[in-house]
Amino acid sequence: MKKLIELMLENLSTRDVFLFRIACGACGKEYGNSPVRFSKAEVIPQTPKKAALYEVLYAQELETARLSAVRDAAEHLNYCPICKRLVCNRCFLICEDLDMCKQCASAMEETGIPVVPDILEIAI
Ligand SMILES: [Zn+2]
Ligand SMILES: [Zn+2]
Repeated sequence: MKKLIELMLENLSTRDVFLFRIACGACGKEYGNSPVRFSKAEVIPQTPKKAALYEVLYAQELETARLSAVRDAAEHLNYCPICKRLVCNRCFLICEDLDMCKQCASAMEETGIPVVPDILEIAI
């Protein structure tokens, strides 16, 4: 599941801000990390050595932000075994036999309850 999220995760990071996004395959709602500023954003390295050091730091902070986005997405997204999409908790149903997304459930004439009911998600 995390592997799939890592594959689908979109990197929208810039030189100054780390941002990763992944959208629900059904409703399009996006999940990911909250934007994090690079600790050396807008700092101009004084020497080539410092510049190289900032590069390493950048890669390190990028990876931290990426992992936090994967963690966040894993909490909100589910893998639908029927349509093979990642769908969010509101679009994913716990069914009697096999959990699946709302669209597949209605196509298969299955019923279930959403992982997170709409009302709850808004309250959070
Ligand atoms: Zn959704
Ligand atoms: Zn599905």
